Amino acid sequence: MTAKDLEDLEYFKSLLLEKRTEVLQSKVIEMSAVEQNANSGLLKYPTHLADLGSDTWGQDLSSYFNARTGKYLKHLDDALRRIENGSYSICVDCGGKIHRERLEVVPHTRYCISCKAKNRRKLSIKF
Ligand SMILES: [Zn+2]
Repeated sequence: MTAKDLEDLEYFKSLLLEKRTEVLQSKVIEMSAVEQNANSGLLKYPTHLADLGSDTWGQDLSSYFNARTGKYLKHLDDALRRIENGSYSICVDCGGKIHRERLEVVPHTRYCISCKAKNRRKLSIKF
């Protein structure tokens, strides 16, 4: 591993940590919004959900958001672990190096661009 590689790893590590903090902060903001609703009596309790009909979309959206950010956080944590164990920026599918340009856009990716495209084609046939 060259000094340049180490420098890159440090760069992506800080990028991932930055994104992680962003996600956690957005979660904190969301939680306090829910709390405010609860305090003002606007929170909808599960026992009322059946009667509320279309009013429940806000709750669905919130759990959807939580599931998504949870998954994203896991991806970020995984990527940070790969930096620590030295497997970062290596495609888990073909073992090739993932281009820096791709990592700049999706720092938590585990696939090189050609494997990603290959997987996507496989998926679209399957479904
Ligand atoms: Zn690959």
